[in-house]
Amino acid sequence: MRTRVHIAAAGILLLSAASAQEVPEGPREILRRLLEAGLQRNDAHLLLAELIKKAPHRLSGSAGADTAVALTARMLARVGADSVWTEPCVVPRWERGSVERATIRGERGRRTPITVCALGGSVPTPPGGIRGRVVEVTSFADLARLGEKVRGKIVFYNRPMNPITLNTFDAYGGAVDQRSRGAAEAAKYGAAGVLVRSVTLALDDVPHTGSLAYVDTLPKIPAAAVSTHGANVLSSLLAKEPDAQVELTLDCRTLADAPSANVIGEIRGTTRPSEIVLVGGHLDAWDTGQGAHDDGSGCVQAIEVLRLIRGLGFAPERTIRAVMFMNEENGSRGGPAYASNPARGRERHVAAIESDRGGYVPRGFTVQSDSLTLRKVLRWKPLFDELGAGRIISGYSGVDVVQIVQAGAAGFGLDVADHRYFDVHHSANDTLGAVHPRELESGAVAMALLAYLIAQEGL
Ligand SMILES: [Zn+2]
Repeated sequence: MRTRVHIAAAGILLLSAASAQEVPEGPREILRRLLEAGLQRNDAHLLLAELIKKAPHRLSGSAGADTAVALTARMLARVGADSVWTEPCVVPRWERGSVERATIRGERGRRTPITVCALGGSVPTPPGGIRGRVVEVTSFADLARLGEKVRGKIVFYNRPMNPITLNTFDAYGGAVDQRSRGAAEAAKYGAAGVLVRSVTLALDDVPHTGSLAYVDTLPKIPAAAVSTHGANVLSSLLAKEPDAQVELTLDCRTLADAPSANVIGEIRGTTRPSEIVLVGGHLDAWDTGQGAHDDGSGCVQAIEVLRLIRGLGFAPERTIRAVMFMNEENGSRGGPAYASNPARGRERHVAAIESDRGGYVPRGFTVQSDSLTLRKVLRWKPLFDELGAGRIISGYSGVDVVQIVQAGAAGFGLDVADHRYFDVHHSANDTLGAVHPRELESGAVAMALLAYLIAQEGL
């Protein structure tokens, strides 16, 4: 009770001190306690290790995803959530299969294997694979100029992420169209299949998967990502031997949609329980790695936020709710299912904070809201500066919270040092060992502080 009085007084202090840009004592003390409780043991990483040990593969509709649903519900209960429940959603189900093979057939029958993986949602090749000459392009405009010349051939998209773009998400955005739309665009001109240079800045032999979108009115042709090393090998060989062929074999498959769930736990608000401050990430992950950064990190950070808030010893004014969304990667069914659940009708979401950019050092938050809200958040900047996370700028929040943000919540994306993210993203490189415990925990502390401030003071 004494703590509650202290906090209320601190709130008044904060309002009067905001104009002077001084950090009031109350919230700074909260930050100190959150940091102490976080960095002592880096619990977020312990949670991540447990998630990855028990559910290393969490592609939507898989047994691993089911395990992750049950496990994270138990974790939420364990960290002291007042209530934990799941809400249903129906998800697409696609399986990679066991054969993913590509071989360049050069002059005099010389064979050069290159490392590939099926893009998520791809149709398989016929059992014996496909074989054809290869047409290298770097844009859909290139492809359109070639038009019918690609009929029966394999289109090879080889436009790299731009390395001089500082923000790697921007660089990703400048290359990912090849992966998402490449198969459909090539199918327009009768191509037999596509190879896509992995959307990564790393130069290695690890292919990066990700979803593709077919167009119903066009043939569905098989599509694979090729490692950046493999793409360079293929490109230089084609320069010398333009008639070289590639054999591609994939045995992935699409099954019927499957029942799944979002996982939810909350600490109920004392005076405004129906006002929700959401923290979340997505529970599903690509099967090529362990989904440690993408997005096991965001999930365990959300759980850790509840643990850290619980550790303060009092409940906030508004409800703080952790949500593990299902199926961000290949369908994004979980976000809309959450937003349209009838229970939302009795609630008002004040804010939705998503962490889905990797468990790296936090730099701040992108704020998806109006300028007035951004100004309100900026009054807390001195506190976040102490965490090294004071970069609070207007920007996108996250895929899973789009509908909640459209319905009026302020959206927040945890912004992190992103230079290494696309080295691991959607690939076998995305493992527990790539996530640093202290960096991950700092992000959880930043999220907990933001959730706390909004829960106490509103926006
Ligand atoms: Zn993600």
